[in-house]
Amino acid sequence: MAVILNGKETSKKYEEEFKNRVEVLKSKLDFLPTLATIIVGEDMASKTYVNMKCRACERIGLGSKVVALPENTTTEELLSVIQNLNNDKSICGILLQHPVPKQINERLCFDAIDISKDVDGVNSMSFGLVSMGEDAYKCATPYGIIRLMKEFNIEMKGKRAVVVGRSAILGKPLAMLLLNEDCTVTICHSKTVNLEEEVRGADIVVGALGKAKFIKSDWIKDGAVVIDAGYNEGNVGDVDVDGCMGRVSAYTPVPGGVGPMTINSLILQTLESAEKLVK
Ligand code: NAP
Repeated sequence: MAVILNGKETSKKYEEEFKNRVEVLKSKLDFLPTLATIIVGEDMASKTYVNMKCRACERIGLGSKVVALPENTTTEELLSVIQNLNNDKSICGILLQHPVPKQINERLCFDAIDISKDVDGVNSMSFGLVSMGEDAYKCATPYGIIRLMKEFNIEMKGKRAVVVGRSAILGKPLAMLLLNEDCTVTICHSKTVNLEEEVRGADIVVGALGKAKFIKSDWIKDGAVVIDAGYNEGNVGDVDVDGCMGRVSAYTPVPGGVGPMTINSLILQTLESAEKLVK
């Protein structure tokens, strides 16, 4: 029987602990520690994600501030907003919702987030440090995946992990975290020759490409762990897990697997950022 890596339940459990940590912070700080989220433009999915993040802050008593900017915002305007948040002591974490409109230099803006407030782990410096196995904030989705696997005692050491997708916010940072956990990691992308063969060799398969059920169930070997980070129209993941549920050892449901752990990891790192102010 495959283990269901239930991110919804796991994140609920952690939120109880987070509530106590917020109470302690409130008694020690003369301001409400706050997560600031910047959203640029009108993307509906992004708006939904931002609302979910705000609600998670509210549930545990953390402050949340949303800065909504118009679609035609320039890089310079966005950099100035980020600078103001960097300078605001009540802001313990800054999240710039991805993607931003095309005219904006997203990398420049990610890198403008003060590393001490980069609780979504998108700054190049954070990525570099994490890749070197040093302490820095991790990208929230990859970190959520690793935390979820650890929660369910999934063995990573020595396992062959195949990550399908190499985006800067998901595939690449996840590959680094898996490497830090002593996995042997293969990163696949749209130019990979014979993806099926790569996936067939995986003990841990990660769908991180954003294409509904693209990874077929018969590519997945018996006993593999399936991590599906994809979230596509109709609440569908990147892996066609239905056809191999009886053969895999564990899998993340979509929805209710990776998604809740992303938000939970963002909140966790915001708490850690606030806690550094009282130590
Ligand atoms: P992205 O920036 O569009 O990157 C997609 C990646 O998939 C690219 O590296 C691309 O390769 C690769 N790819 C595309 N088609 C492929 C193919 N046919 N074979 C192999 N690789 C292929 O997407 P993203 O932002 O990483 O998001 C990916 C998925 O994760 C989406 O469904 C998104 O909604 C989901 N997501 C979920 C969460 C969460 O919290 N649950 C968070 C972030 C993202 P190239 O580099 O060669 O183009």
